[in-house]
Amino acid sequence: MTADLHHKSRTHLGRYLWATLLPIVLLSASLSVVFYEQIRLSRLTRREIEGVAAIHLLYQSLTDLQKIRGLTQMALWKTEDVGEDLARIRQQFLDRLHQPDWRQKVHFFHLENETRTLENRAAQLFRMDPADTPFIDLFGEYSRLISRILRLMQLTADRSQLILDPELDTYYLIDILVKQIPYLAEAIGRLRGMGSGFLAKGSITEQEAERLQSYHSVIAARMETIRDEQIILAKVAPNLTRELELLPPQLDDIIATLCQQCRVMEGKEPGTRMEPRDFFLLATQAIDQLAPPYREGIFLLKSRLRQRQNHHLWQGGVIFCGSAIAILLMLYFNRSFYIRNLRLQEQLSELSVTDQLTGLHNRRHLLAVFPRQLRHALRHREHLFLGFLDVDHFKRYNDIYGHTEGDQVLQQIATTMNSILRRAGDYCFRIGGEEFCILFTEENMEKAMELAERLRHALEQQRIPHEGNIPWGIVTISLGLVKVPDEPGCRLEELMSRADQALYTAKEKGRNRYETG
Ligand code: GH3
Ligand code: MG
Ligand code: MG
Repeated sequence: MTADLHHKSRTHLGRYLWATLLPIVLLSASLSVVFYEQIRLSRLTRREIEGVAAIHLLYQSLTDLQKIRGLTQMALWKTEDVGEDLARIRQQFLDRLHQPDWRQKVHFFHLENETRTLENRAAQLFRMDPADTPFIDLFGEYSRLISRILRLMQLTADRSQLILDPELDTYYLIDILVKQIPYLAEAIGRLRGMGSGFLAKGSITEQEAERLQSYHSVIAARMETIRDEQIILAKVAPNLTRELELLPPQLDDIIATLCQQCRVMEGKEPGTRMEPRDFFLLATQAIDQLAPPYREGIFLLKSRLRQRQNHHLWQGGVIFCGSAIAILLMLYFNRSFYIRNLRLQEQLSELSVTDQLTGLHNRRHLLAVFPRQLRHALRHREHLFLGFLDVDHFKRYNDIYGHTEGDQVLQQIATTMNSILRRAGDYCFRIGGEEFCILFTEENMEKAMELAERLRHALEQQRIPHEGNIPWGIVTISLGLVKVPDEPGCRLEELMSRADQALYTAKEKGRNRYETG
């Protein structure tokens, strides 16, 4: 039975582990997927934020280069001294591309080659003397460099996966910032160069008029697209465009004046022609007008992305902490349930082998202990002895003193037994009403007999009155003692019957004695 219980508690441990570890593994696995997803989204957003910063820097480089192109043009006309401004903006342009932060981003988005080519081409152009190069070639080179920046902006947007924005509400804002405004600025820049050049020349051919016209139609179309996209943006993400005016109203007036002047040049409208320098400055003003709303748009996009990143980080944190706490609680409660259960089981197993009245082991335990003790004795070359005890004339005791008193006597006998048999391998059992059993190891039969005698004597010494136990007048016991054969196959039933026989002999011979069998 105890072995059975031990086996049961082992399977119980197995079940506990399954019931604890399996859900924890499954829970952790599924939560780690969700957690990983949050971290991944947060990292994607970080990439987007880096992309937005890079695009802003590229836009600034674009307007710098446009200025350089414009100032070179002015230098060619020799209308005024622009040398100092030119040198300053060139340096500014190169400094921007050399910023360590920008270098990191270039590396991050694998744009090293593109940026290196841009830097080299710019440095090469800056070294050229405008006086030695035909204006149209210089203008063309700068414009190509600007197109390179525009492409770079597009590439940065692609590599930072900005356009693939999963929440889509920023999609139109990104499109305006990456494509529409930069191309609009470039179209105005081209118009500036072309228009002021034609004004300086004094007359334009039909072909030139057509080119001029195509540019101011492009500007008008871009502005319209920006307005349309802003309207959509206001609908899909109303909180995003709260105070955002990507095309300031003043810009309309300036563009209208520029276009009107172009029509005058094209001969489509009467009117006085502007000074080339005024046309130039007006167009420059138009480009400058775009800078503050562009900056604002970038700021808005960045804060929006940061918000989203924080949201993912927050969610990830909650998932992580929540699952960690859940797992810890689960472990804690399961462990305490398990320990409590184990204790109850131990108590139960203890109860199942204990006699309630005397606290000695019961017959069931004798059946479990005997084979174990036999094996132990054989292994250690010890001799095992079994004694059978019975209280003399106990029925009479009950009759005379009552059942309760009888119970107390049984308890006293158990205490006496425990006081004599107290070594590690000694066992006392109550196997029936007033019948007890002892199992112990001794060197030989003489010593075993000595122990039996000690036990008998110890009880006798207590002198518990028992009038019915004639001639002693006190409570006594009779004892049958047998030596367990040193054989592994020895059966307990046989031994008990031999011990019972010996006990019977002891009773026959007058009680209060022991006999061997
Ligand atoms: P003998 O000397 O031949 O053993 O005489 P006996 O009277 O002891 O023999 P018997 O086996 O006929 O009687 C046993 C008695 O033990 C019967 C019963 O009243 C008593 N008894 C059995 N279990 C208990 C118990 O739990 N408590 C008490 N108080 N008495 C018990
Ligand atoms: Mg009896
Ligand atoms: Mg008896």
